[in-house]
Amino acid sequence: PPALVWFRQDLRLADNPALAAATGGLAAARRILPVYVLDPDAAGRWAPGGAGRWWLHYSLESLGRSLAACGAPLLLVRGRAEIVIPALADAVGAAEVFAGRLYEPWARERDQRIAEALEAAGRQLRLSTSSLLREPTQVRSGSGKPYAVYTPFAKAMAAMGGPAAPLPAPERLQGLEAPPPGEALADWALLPRRGWADAFATVWTPGEAGATARLAEFAAGPVRQYAARRNDPGVDGSSGLSPHLHWGEISPRQVWAAVQAAMPGEVVPGAPAWTFLSEVLWREFSYHVLWHRPGLPEAPLRQRYAAFPWAPDAALLRAWERGRTGYPIVDAGMRQLWRHGWMHNRVRMIAASLLVKHLLQPWQHGAAWFWDTLVDADLAANSAGWQWVAGSGSDAAPYFRVFNPILQGEKFDPSGRYVRRFVPELAKLPDRYLHRPWEAPEPALREAGLILDRDYPRPVVEHAEGRRRALEALAQMVTAA
Ligand code: FAD
Repeated sequence: PPALVWFRQDLRLADNPALAAATGGLAAARRILPVYVLDPDAAGRWAPGGAGRWWLHYSLESLGRSLAACGAPLLLVRGRAEIVIPALADAVGAAEVFAGRLYEPWARERDQRIAEALEAAGRQLRLSTSSLLREPTQVRSGSGKPYAVYTPFAKAMAAMGGPAAPLPAPERLQGLEAPPPGEALADWALLPRRGWADAFATVWTPGEAGATARLAEFAAGPVRQYAARRNDPGVDGSSGLSPHLHWGEISPRQVWAAVQAAMPGEVVPGAPAWTFLSEVLWREFSYHVLWHRPGLPEAPLRQRYAAFPWAPDAALLRAWERGRTGYPIVDAGMRQLWRHGWMHNRVRMIAASLLVKHLLQPWQHGAAWFWDTLVDADLAANSAGWQWVAGSGSDAAPYFRVFNPILQGEKFDPSGRYVRRFVPELAKLPDRYLHRPWEAPEPALREAGLILDRDYPRPVVEHAEGRRRALEALAQMVTAA
């Protein structure tokens, strides 16, 4: 009987264990029906946001082309996967449905129900490890518990040894002779209607080919300078692989193997390549935490933070979203996010910190904006990132450490390259005022053609005042708890 291959967050052919298991190896002995189900209802508020839908459109287009070229066209169906998948299996007489495992709480529950529905009809849902190096249940401390802190988690991962070699892409696949009718991608209207995402394509090439090319490029050179350049948002020092990894256009195992091939002997803790691979392990750690603490996206992991006196304010939130806080490094980041659907990691930390500390806005509001605007929006990494900044995560920065957005800007963007790129109204200010335009004397402003308040706002809250309020709120929480 044929097999169903259900693509979800593993939109690739190479190193795809679900696809390999379905075809029965490279011989492509078994006929398969590849399918993607658009099921936003199951995900609820964690269905892909605007930027994610843009990415998904092009990634599905690319996957569809590759599958068709191999001989097994992709079937697109919109609806509740709980109904669609068992019905399709039934319609084509598939005894097995193959897919990569998902870790989001809503997806786990849905897979459970689908497995039961299939079993009731004598069929099987077969899940493989497709988007992580290790299953979250595989990594356990000596006492058998899941990890709550990154460093021992990473040590345990290192001790388990490198991942197995990636699987090659199949050359040929055998599709069904008469597959059921599917839908047209264009009818799903995944692309935003107005011009918002126009510049995304200048930075990104969604799809497996784009992912593979980016990895090859990164491994051929920049990975060597990663440790030195990753904190400078003005240069493209990091890999830019996050959306490709999120959508599974490339696997972490392929990333690992590429780094190993480029820097043999250096894939050990302490060696330069490890600085980069540590970030890939942060990704694994986020999923580990999400799996063991499924409340991560919704509520603080540290109980006492439930009593934090947030002060929700729509106007402040809006100023932050639109990159009009008056802090150039933050505004540059928020505008990069809006323009390119991505933000540099260092700037994510600074911008998120300003929102939850100086502005006292609930981290969930910032996470929701990121969810809608990031092409790499990822429930595990985003929720963990925000809880890290807010101080409420399992292994978080202490809340009382309040980033100074002026000094952070001067330290990490000393040449002003990043700010000048994304906040062009400040471009002509001399370096010494770039991260504190409100201190620029009148002649400097005039020369730069800048009128404060009109062209660029003064800080929505003064740094010392923001810091004081944040610490006061923390003290209130401690007293309340
Ligand atoms: P590199 O530096 O090249 O790292 C390689 C890969 O490791 C990344 O592609 C990513 O998959 C992973 N990685 C790196 N840093 C982290 C991290 N801190 N946590 C988990 N995985 C990491 N990352 C997302 O993928 N999706 C998100 O929605 C997301 N939201 C974030 C929100 C906040 C508030 C913060 C502080 C961080 C967030 N991150 C998120 C983590 C990080 O900022 C991005 O993964 C990184 O900037 C992506 O760029 P890169 O691919 O060039 O990373």
